[in-house]
Amino acid sequence: GLKYPASDKAYKIVLAGDAAVGKSSFLLRLCKNEFRGNSSATLGVDFQMKTLVVDGEPTVLQLWDTAGQERFRSIAKSYFRRADGVLLLYDVTCEKSFLNVREWVDMIEDVSQEDIPIMLVGNKVDLRQQALEDGIECVPTSYGEKLAMAYNSLFCETSAKDGSNVIEAVLHLAREVTKQI
Ligand code: GDP
Repeated sequence: GLKYPASDKAYKIVLAGDAAVGKSSFLLRLCKNEFRGNSSATLGVDFQMKTLVVDGEPTVLQLWDTAGQERFRSIAKSYFRRADGVLLLYDVTCEKSFLNVREWVDMIEDVSQEDIPIMLVGNKVDLRQQALEDGIECVPTSYGEKLAMAYNSLFCETSAKDGSNVIEAVLHLAREVTKQI
């Protein structure tokens, strides 16, 4: 099993992105390995702790779930102030949530002191094939890759529903975050 980490530093990771892109579901998958099909909207902000082994070192992450709603933006801002890293989610079956990524990045860069590592996450990949068949405009992988490159951020696509890439995304970001400090 895991030993207690050598240092008691917990890295603060904040989840960002529009409402309903899957932030709470992502956190639930990461921390409890569960998925709920009808999770209710997040009210305000909440955090979960998760210990991951990053480059052989047990590393404690404090993951903050912010609500995407406009009315919570002012609350959300204060949580980015001391963040060590950001998981910025959009929904690959919702173009609008992808178009709003720019706004989130602007806000994060505005509020945080230095360049903090950002992992851009295209979530709900399990829905993309069906959505395309249903004629819904989806965000292609290459668009996410290009945007991430433009922001010099990391990128991956995930599904909180089936769990694909969820831990990998967080590990990759954690590696970047622990490198910086
Ligand atoms: P939040 O507002 O960003 O925290 O989003 P939620 O976690 O509440 O998710 C919004 C809705 O999308 C919920 O009904 C979730 O069950 C659903 N959802 C979240 N992630 C996924 C996913 O990866 N795949 C599928 N199919 N549904 C998802």
